[in-house]
Amino acid sequence: MVAKQIAASGGLYIEDGKARISLDPGPGAVVQYAKRKVDLTKLDAIVISHRHLDHCGDVNVMVEAMTEGGFAHRGRLFCPSDALDEDPVVLKYLRRFPQEVVRLQPESTYSVNGLEFTTSPRHIHQVETYGFRFGDRLGWVTDSAYYDGIAEQHKAEVMIIHVVLMQCRAELPHLCLDDAERIIREAKPRLAILTHYGMTVWRAHPWELAAGLTQRQLAERLGIPEQQIQRYESTMYSGVSLDRLQDVADALGLEIEERVTYAASA
Ligand SMILES: [Zn+2]
Repeated sequence: MVAKQIAASGGLYIEDGKARISLDPGPGAVVQYAKRKVDLTKLDAIVISHRHLDHCGDVNVMVEAMTEGGFAHRGRLFCPSDALDEDPVVLKYLRRFPQEVVRLQPESTYSVNGLEFTTSPRHIHQVETYGFRFGDRLGWVTDSAYYDGIAEQHKAEVMIIHVVLMQCRAELPHLCLDDAERIIREAKPRLAILTHYGMTVWRAHPWELAAGLTQRQLAERLGIPEQQIQRYESTMYSGVSLDRLQDVADALGLEIEERVTYAASA
């Protein structure tokens, strides 16, 4: 996926209030940010979940950008210790460019220009890895094998879930589609975003997998068969009772606006 750039591997960008954060700038991140006109000299922080190349390939160029080639001593870099020690992915000469290099600890809270985030316990992965939660608003389940508590630890209104595998494989510490479904069922986010697919997920058309998950979750929350939801969707919910629509809206956390229009009397 990365080598062919079937999907971009540039990571995430969060802008909230005064805080601007780049998360896991993988290979091509600097190009993706430039395309979207993100001014990297205004970044407050770069956060790395773990030192695998697809999560930090562009970290050095990003540090350069955030600090204007080292001339502006600003911004912070957050990463696990082993990204600095064991198999360092952050070049040594760059480490004095940011204001601070912070070694992430498990279950700790950090603040970037007013925006707080908390690390999960260490994920089950080949290298030191942490997931993140930005209050109740955003949970980011980065690479890990499934473990008890992963849903609760990342529970938030919007959850980003790294779904690498179509089928679970015990020898690979990555989430598969069934794991993602379990996490969604347990944490019940308003919106779950599946990303970071491996080739098997990509070939199975992630948008179709997502539609299937949506129908199953909705059916579960309403306590009706999945086929019923498929029927509703095929007729765009026409002829469905207002009570049932209210149930669907409640399950989705939506508000129904009732609008009755009268023809103007002649
Ligand atoms: Zn990884």
